[in-house]
Amino acid sequence: MKSKLTKKPLIVVAVILIIAVAASSMTGCSVSTAPVTDEMFAIDTIIKFTVYADTDAANKAIDTAKAEITRLESMLSASIETSDISSINNSKTEPVNVSEETADLINRSLEISKTVNGAFDISVRPLVTLWGFDTKNFTVPSDNDIKSTIGYVDYKKISVSDTSVRLSDNMSLDLGAIAKGYIADRVVSVMCDSGITSAIVSLGGNVVAIGKKPSSDFSIGIEYPDGYGDSFAVINGFCGAAVTSGAYQRYFEQNSVRYHHIIDPETGYPSDSDISSVTVFSDDSTLCDALSTAFFVMGIEKTTAYCKANPDIDVAILSADYKTLYVTSNIKSRLSLTKGYNDISIKEIK
Ligand code: AMP
Ligand code: MG
Repeated sequence: MKSKLTKKPLIVVAVILIIAVAASSMTGCSVSTAPVTDEMFAIDTIIKFTVYADTDAANKAIDTAKAEITRLESMLSASIETSDISSINNSKTEPVNVSEETADLINRSLEISKTVNGAFDISVRPLVTLWGFDTKNFTVPSDNDIKSTIGYVDYKKISVSDTSVRLSDNMSLDLGAIAKGYIADRVVSVMCDSGITSAIVSLGGNVVAIGKKPSSDFSIGIEYPDGYGDSFAVINGFCGAAVTSGAYQRYFEQNSVRYHHIIDPETGYPSDSDISSVTVFSDDSTLCDALSTAFFVMGIEKTTAYCKANPDIDVAILSADYKTLYVTSNIKSRLSLTKGYNDISIKEIK
């Protein structure tokens, strides 16, 4: 439930969770075309675009992607009063009509929740609010407050019929563990529609790549979860999506105890699993995002079982003591530990 503080000073919010690293310097290949790069701040994250195309085409695609991100944030964010999610949350038990896209994403969330026995649950918001993670007015609630709030968290009580969504008493939704992944998938889609064949976009802990660089593969680094932002491992030949969840990404401290932002819906407390960070890889960023949160709650053993039953999912899990990296074979063959982190032992889980 509560993890003791490490002795090192820690940065409160680690902004970049997966760092797109310059593969050219890592692989020794030269890049024939310099990429067009750009940034925006949205969904509480610095979003970085790197696009290999001629300047006009790249800028046009980036503008389209930025507009798509803004559109989706205003639809899906629980902290924007006019969003679909806020309408649902403010409606008490009345059914609310939302966009088809919002209804689809909620349905997708419910399907994923079933596969992980509720470890990922978009109805977790009453607990997120109780701990103060939505307002940043952090507080450690009493056990009684947790007990009375946990009853409002149950994805099975969310009903969706076409585009109409209805909650039970005192429930509210938070798509924070899946929306960024969905937005990343949409960014890929609009960029591909704009004719882009080579790009990498980093949205905090979510990274998506289209194709490869003109003369080499993309590589990404996985951040060491001590809050300093170094990457401890590099995955070469990266394509598709990767999403990291970790206790170091958002937390507060009280009486030398750290309380992080990923809540175990079964206990109502920040999850107390044997994982310090988990990165999920697949072609589907929406799924990666939901699963990274779920796996963080589920711990190594249950995540291993999930990966064995789902061959399309790859993971890199750093244990809570930072000593062991559990990986699927697809990741193992493409992974190298960064200098200074070679004492981490690597164990293949499937
Ligand atoms: P992520 O960074 O993708 O792991 O998502 C964490 C965010 O999702 C938190 O900041 C909360 O807003 C929300 N959240 C926390 N715990 C859960 C959970 N068990 N299931 C779904 N969403 C959660
Ligand atoms: Mg997530």
